Amino acid sequence: MTDRISHWIDGKPFSGTPARTGEVFDPATGQVRAHVDFAGDAEVEAAVAAAKAALPGWRGTSLAGRTRVLFAFRELLSARKHELAKIITSEHGKVESDAAGEIARAIENVEFACGAAQLLKGGFSENASTGVDVYSIAQPLGVVGVISPFNFPAMVPLWFVPNALACGNTVVLKPSEKDPSAAVFIAELFAEAGLPAGALNVLHGDKVAVDGLLTHADVKAISFVGSTPIARYVYETGTRHGKRVQALGGAKNHMVVLPDADLDLAADAAVSAGFGSAGERCMAVSVVVAVDPIGDELVRKITQRMSVLRVGDGRDPESEMGPLVTKAHHARVSSYVDAGVGEGASLVVDGRGIEVAGDGFWLGPTLFDHVRPSMSIYTDEIFGPVLSVARAASYDEALELINANPYGNGTAIFTGDGAAARKFQNEVEVGMVGVNVPIPVPVGYYSFGGWKDSLFGDSHAYGPEGFHFFTRTKVVTSRWPDRSHAGVNLGFPRNS
Ligand code: NAD
Repeated sequence: MTDRISHWIDGKPFSGTPARTGEVFDPATGQVRAHVDFAGDAEVEAAVAAAKAALPGWRGTSLAGRTRVLFAFRELLSARKHELAKIITSEHGKVESDAAGEIARAIENVEFACGAAQLLKGGFSENASTGVDVYSIAQPLGVVGVISPFNFPAMVPLWFVPNALACGNTVVLKPSEKDPSAAVFIAELFAEAGLPAGALNVLHGDKVAVDGLLTHADVKAISFVGSTPIARYVYETGTRHGKRVQALGGAKNHMVVLPDADLDLAADAAVSAGFGSAGERCMAVSVVVAVDPIGDELVRKITQRMSVLRVGDGRDPESEMGPLVTKAHHARVSSYVDAGVGEGASLVVDGRGIEVAGDGFWLGPTLFDHVRPSMSIYTDEIFGPVLSVARAASYDEALELINANPYGNGTAIFTGDGAAARKFQNEVEVGMVGVNVPIPVPVGYYSFGGWKDSLFGDSHAYGPEGFHFFTRTKVVTSRWPDRSHAGVNLGFPRNS
């Protein structure tokens, strides 16, 4: 008997009539650990109706009242982070320290949302015209949908949910069906923190649930994170149905290493950013661009570090890299290793056939060298522990390679030369840039977002752009004729 994971609607578990369910695996053992209900039209309707019913009350809750809930949620999340990390590891497979890191970044976003009272201040212009004042107010959009990917089952929902709620919206969250339990845990904590029933609902499922939200007249906005083809689809479908949409897509992140870089630092960074979370991060480094003449030495240093990387069950504190999320994903990533060999890249470290106890979805860290832009291991987002090294003759050639890539999520440059770093940050066509920092995920008070095929829409996620996305402004032009001049008794004492 496995667990059953139900929706969370109107402040409590909601079973509905699940015509379909999905299997949720423990990736380290390969066993099915739970079945998750998949929403059909009736469940979509119930979730959106609950969010709509909760809207007047939540929107009408004072800023102080909303903020109190967010502060309480922050305390609960912090107190129970170990429990949440274990849930993440059991369904995603990442090692518990990685899961803890994800929660720490999530907490940053909650803390940012706790500043709602400051962030929602409007502007005011007294006497814009004689006796006329003009001011702006930021109001919630209404019911908003959040659709998240498998790779950060707690952090990505919390990129959006705290800010959406802080702004007075109510939310339907559709987490990934591969690791859905973290979202339910988050909803339970919000309820414990005092969030009214219906203000946050969790709807499980697949395309049916997503399409239900994208086309529902009562859903006013969609925040999506996932792969590029689905992000494009969500953006096009959502906007066609009159919604505000931000849809963050996939990535192919390059890390440039200039000849004057600290190669030990660069090799450490390449290994942690390439293989952390088994490469299942949208900000993972997947291509190291070694600028001549340091390629051979850098590959040697990376290889040395890979040889001591401990792959194992994420629950074991000794493990540094866990399994892939599902058998299907394992097969897909492994097929890219086969393709890379077939296309003529040099396979320096082969992760296929790694032996780890249990029937988990294991693939060891894999390194290719002399990867060329025409190869599928270069063109496609692999989303696994497969790192490619491409060689470039110069800085200009490295820059050209990155700017020709259709993705533009993150990038990094490793160098000892500040002027080179400044030139790179100015010239590179990528949304998030690291200078001697391999995974430049912005802190919670900036915003996260890529360029080109890595983001569809105008707003980046969380931070100030998150508040902007979840509100619409209204400008009031107001005149209050002073009738005292006309001899009218105003009924209250005047000083002047
Ligand atoms: P995915 O695109 O398969 O799924 C994302 C969400 O879309 C899930 O909730 C899923 O149920 C839903 N979905 C899947 N297929 C759908 C369809 N045909 N129609 C409608 N909805 C559908 O992505 P994933 O495999 O869960 O996550 C990995 C991807 O997410 C990678 O491409 C990664 O780069 C990307 N990602 C991007 C960022 C970013 O900030 N840019 C962050 C994290 C992950």
